Amino acid sequence: MITVQKIQMVDLKTQYEKIKSEVDNGIQEVINSTAFINGPAVKEFQKDLETYLNVKHVIPCANGTDALQIAMMALGLKPGDEVITANFTYVATAEVIGLLGLTPVLVDVNENTFDINIEAIEKNITPKTKAIVPVHLYGQCCNMEAIMAIAKKHNLFVIEDVAQALGADYIFADGTKKKAGTIGTVGSTSFFPSKNLGCYGDGGAIYTNDDNLAAKLRMIAHHGQSKQYIHDVLGVNSRLDTIQAAILKVKLKRLDSYAKARNNAADFYDKAFANHAKIKTPVRAKYSNHVFHQYTLTLKEIDRNNLREFLANKNIPSMIYYPIPLHKQNAYKSERFNDKDFPITEKLCAHVISLPMHTELNHETLKYITDNVLEFCNK
Ligand SMILES: *Cc1c(COP(=O)(O)O)cnc(C)c1O
Repeated sequence: MITVQKIQMVDLKTQYEKIKSEVDNGIQEVINSTAFINGPAVKEFQKDLETYLNVKHVIPCANGTDALQIAMMALGLKPGDEVITANFTYVATAEVIGLLGLTPVLVDVNENTFDINIEAIEKNITPKTKAIVPVHLYGQCCNMEAIMAIAKKHNLFVIEDVAQALGADYIFADGTKKKAGTIGTVGSTSFFPSKNLGCYGDGGAIYTNDDNLAAKLRMIAHHGQSKQYIHDVLGVNSRLDTIQAAILKVKLKRLDSYAKARNNAADFYDKAFANHAKIKTPVRAKYSNHVFHQYTLTLKEIDRNNLREFLANKNIPSMIYYPIPLHKQNAYKSERFNDKDFPITEKLCAHVISLPMHTELNHETLKYITDNVLEFCNK
């Protein structure tokens, strides 16, 4: 008998059931020890993640938004400094720039790979530019070699937003690989439950190979404290819960097999939609492998709302990441931004659709999803 899965964008329940005893034991151990804050599991997970990423320092923190903010604080960015990032991203990236009084300079992205456009970065560099924040969107790295070359030329920091791409490899022109987030000055990530390495609440981390920067990041995440009750700089309170760290330890061991399961689902989707006149499947960049945080199609001549409604009626959820460019959000509107500077972002916001993507999709479910998408698009 085929068990029909309840189709979800992300199925955390089935995933949990497979690792239940290990996760439950980890949580119970924390409760037994009552070491809820900075218990041993936090340090253990930090070490495990440093080894996995092959990076010198991982600084755990409370969430991915904090990770970005702490990174920008530690780099000493000051009000008025300009920070270049993609217009086509989750709001958190631009939000922390604004919160710190920095100036978000939004730029367009690439139509095929959804990542920040290199020419657009170069065009927007001014004497006030201090940093670039490439967002490794949907699970694929930006063109880091080109970005690092620009950063070097103009003496800029690079803060990699790895919230959607933990575990992805950047592939250098010479074939060598490094983990996303370990190439720039600093990387930041999120352990939000639906992220590729998700905990059961909020969590985040910052990583760097720079010893001095690591010390600053740690200090800022901990109230700017250098020694107990000695506060050298303005900081924040941003910690990873011990219970979350215990869960993350269990899931990190499986991250590569989770990425494989996501890639298998992506391959199934790719095959089903191959060469379809109205459906463009996600393009794999030659400079990255993909961990498919999202599987995102670009539709041509298809009414997206009608497709979503058709799918919803068949109990197939879908999502739009992201429906509105940041420069059109009330919080980020500015006379500095001109619609004509963002043709690709505008196009993607109007035509992308993300299908269910997680570690537990079986072939029956994938076939049911693709059959229904095709039925609508072939009408
Ligand atoms: C999820 C996400 C964040 C924020 O992470 P939180 O843990 O929710 O604060 C930042 N940037 C991107 C691109 C994200 O997808």
